Amino acid sequence: MKVTRIAYSTRLNPGKYAALAEQARRLGQVRSEVWQRYGSITGVGSGLRDRQVRDRWLADGTHLRFGVLANAWKETVRDAMADIAANLASAKVEVRRAITRRTNDPVERKRMFTALKADQWAIDPFLARQMRKHWKRGRNRTHDQIVVRADQYNSVTDARGRLWLAVPGLERRKTVKIPLSSTIAPTGTLRLILRGGRVEVHYQVDASEMRSSQRPCGQRAVGVDKGYTEVLTDSEGTHHGTRLGQLLSSESDRLKERNRRRAKLRSIANNAALRGDHAKAHRIAVNNLGTVKRDRQAARHRARVRTEIFTAVHRVVDKAATVVAEDLARRFAGRKKLGKNVNRRLAAWTKGVTAEALTNVSERRGSALVHVNAAYTSQTCHRCGRLGRRDGDRLHCSPCGVVWQADVNAAINILQRAGDPDIALHTPHYTVRQILQDRTDRHRTRLPVQDSSPATIRAESEPSEPLKNEQLVGSRN
Ligand SMILES: [Zn+2]
Repeated sequence: MKVTRIAYSTRLNPGKYAALAEQARRLGQVRSEVWQRYGSITGVGSGLRDRQVRDRWLADGTHLRFGVLANAWKETVRDAMADIAANLASAKVEVRRAITRRTNDPVERKRMFTALKADQWAIDPFLARQMRKHWKRGRNRTHDQIVVRADQYNSVTDARGRLWLAVPGLERRKTVKIPLSSTIAPTGTLRLILRGGRVEVHYQVDASEMRSSQRPCGQRAVGVDKGYTEVLTDSEGTHHGTRLGQLLSSESDRLKERNRRRAKLRSIANNAALRGDHAKAHRIAVNNLGTVKRDRQAARHRARVRTEIFTAVHRVVDKAATVVAEDLARRFAGRKKLGKNVNRRLAAWTKGVTAEALTNVSERRGSALVHVNAAYTSQTCHRCGRLGRRDGDRLHCSPCGVVWQADVNAAINILQRAGDPDIALHTPHYTVRQILQDRTDRHRTRLPVQDSSPATIRAESEPSEPLKNEQLVGSRN
């Protein structure tokens, strides 16, 4: 398993930056060419390989148009084709879902899955329609990247301990030397991204070499519930990543304020331009509406949130051999556009990072990640299985006469779902509701338990002394 690392250039001289930016711009044309020629069913969709494209370009002289070194365009062709393939693969995920919705017949499903996998969707009208719907013909939007193969660069530490990375320029044997802020030399294939006068050097390291991967996982089964003020709450009552809420709300306030100010400045600039004062309009655009500082602040905020989330997940895995969670990567019906709503965007993004962290950390440290159906887990009492009354961060259950802390109760329910024989990952929420209802009805009319539904058994076999609310409040760390 690979993890991406980023090193940054420090005080790079503008001439070198301009040279790299020009190279990236030319390589952007290479990317555009690849997308345009092979970005569809007849290209990457038909199993075309980057080697074949290279041979074709060398044969017909396409490569001569770009004015870059051979190695640079070849790596770029490969990279662009991988982008197209990723684009295709994500469309197939959607189509696979559509197949599951369309038919329950296992033979029919298998036939369609196989055709899809073998890129033979054109022969089936349903598959062809679905692929057209989900595989939007893309185009290249990357004009600021250079991919450098492992044998094409080297790094040197100077007398003052500064690390320099030498990468190929536009001419043979003329390298561009980039001073880096890190002291660890990048390894493997590099992706240089040019942003606002600074070079980001992205590279991958093997996760097994990371110190955090060597930490063993815990021994228990732990359920986790995704929160808003904290990253996760576990079924043992501990909150993890409690600074998340603060990080998100301060960022959202800052963005709202900044966007307001920028809108105001933009209107001043527009008015100036309308009056014919183009000098003023230009001044505002350059000095006040730039993107360098804005992008750097955004990157810094993202890095802070990621750290908070990954640390929280590590804490859970410290005690868990099995982590039971809702599938946070799954998108829900009605893919609404998030639009400009800052809070919702941030929330959606954090959810994605939490999903990534759960998968990534579990895999690296050897714990099992089990996804369960989380429908009604935040609304039902984990002890009796009935729907409770939610009041802020509390859940009141009248039959039990107990007030639970809502997220801890949810995490316990999530843990219990892992052994639930009736509620599967994709059981629709209305069916889940019916199942929960039936269980409590059976309970109420005192019929003997007919099956091994664990919620009922657990409720009966639990200690007669009800858990006190305080016991569930747990510790915050
Ligand atoms: Zn209850």
